[in-house]
Amino acid sequence: MAERADLIVVGAGPGGSAAAYYAARAGLSVLLLDRQEFPRDKPCGDGLMPHAAEEISLMGLGDWLDEPRHGKFSGFSIYTQTAYLRQKVPPTLHGPHGYVAARQETDARLLGRAQEASADFRSGVRATRLLRSPAGNVIGVEAASNGENLLYEAPLVVAADGVGGFAGEGMKAHQNSVARRQYFRNVSGPNREDLHVFITKDMNEHGAGYGWVFYFGDGRANVGAGVSTKTLARTGRNLKDFFDRFLEEPEMAGWLEGAEPEGPAKSWSLKMGMWGAKRSTQGLMTVGDAASMIHPISGEGVGYAIESGRLAASFAHEARARNDYSASLLKGYATQLRRQRAREHLSGYALTNLVPNLRMMEPFFKACEKDPEARRTLVEGFTGDAPVYSLLKHPKTLGKAIATAARSR
Ligand SMILES: Cc1cc2nc3c(=O)[nH]c(=O)nc-3n(C[C@H](O)[C@H](O)[C@H](O)COP(=O)(O)OP(=O)(O)OC[C@H]3O[C@@H](n4cnc5c(N)ncnc54)[C@H](O)[C@@H]3O)c2cc1C
Repeated sequence: MAERADLIVVGAGPGGSAAAYYAARAGLSVLLLDRQEFPRDKPCGDGLMPHAAEEISLMGLGDWLDEPRHGKFSGFSIYTQTAYLRQKVPPTLHGPHGYVAARQETDARLLGRAQEASADFRSGVRATRLLRSPAGNVIGVEAASNGENLLYEAPLVVAADGVGGFAGEGMKAHQNSVARRQYFRNVSGPNREDLHVFITKDMNEHGAGYGWVFYFGDGRANVGAGVSTKTLARTGRNLKDFFDRFLEEPEMAGWLEGAEPEGPAKSWSLKMGMWGAKRSTQGLMTVGDAASMIHPISGEGVGYAIESGRLAASFAHEARARNDYSASLLKGYATQLRRQRAREHLSGYALTNLVPNLRMMEPFFKACEKDPEARRTLVEGFTGDAPVYSLLKHPKTLGKAIATAARSR
């Protein structure tokens, strides 16, 4: 016999656990399904921008974030081909710190909070399709576990299945980036209170990408690199090749001289920028990566996954209270999410598509070295706290950069 709930959430990453947590706290019976056993690893940079840390704190994990094994960063060191930009985290609404916490632990903690709020979690259960009534309304999910076919019934489903896309129906947009990371011990770079970001020639000659070193508090570091799928297509190279060459960059090679890798490098794909995905329809909402909520410039998605999960839960609550699971009610979720995030996401997405390679930005990076205000805005564009067109507020620096670019043509 099928099990019933008010809400089924597919996927127990940050987006799904947040949706399950907030919906269960609002009094809904929630079934949370994940195809994997937890704790599970998720390839990630493990960086939590201030707004993401705030979302995690709102879920009752602020003290956990402050535990010393996690990294706590207060600034950025950005290395480009011609410039070195060091900037404190802009003291926006969300505070002057971010964190670096391993996803294996973060996701298990968030899931724990959903369970404490009484969401019913089933691991090893892979959702295979949405179930519909003869009239076409969502009535639940079909799933598979250990070769067994399972049915779960609910009038509302939240798809939080990351790049999975189980819900089909044209909800998902295609991936447009790939990234790879590896853990190391004893990385010997400077300024452990910064996130280190490398905009290298290799990754930006024919597209866009960056490498990173994010330090934990326990002496380990997350080292990674990500490039757009366009970059792969234009160069005919694969992600592993970009990652390996990043580790060989002179600066990185020096930092890694005495370092020991901890486990293999792991890759995953991303859909960066809110463009192209459909986030709601009758009986269904998508959150996190399933809803294309990854920031188009930084590639960060944990905070947006939690934020969208929180918002989806409030619409789940509203839908149950009115017994209305129509597309028109749930559209409010997609509209509100767009209102909150579209400025930063769509302008960043436009920039990454308009600028054929980030090398074109070098004169601007160089000019930012001497203009702290422009540098701060640049970093706010990266942390998701400002749309990239805020750079227009710095006409002098922009003008200087354009003049330099024109001279070097
Ligand atoms: C290399 C790399 C580095 C990154 N660095 C950062 C960073 O530093 N900071 C940051 O904020 N973001 C980063 N991101 C992005 C971030 O990892 C994602 O945005 C984040 O994981 C999104 O969370 P989510 O809950 O939407 O999906 P996920 O975390 O992917 O969770 C989806 C869950 O759904 C489950 N699932 C999938 N299909 C099914 C199914 N059919 N049935 C049941 N369960 C299913 C999966 O097992 C998984 O547990 C990075 C991404 C990559 C690839």
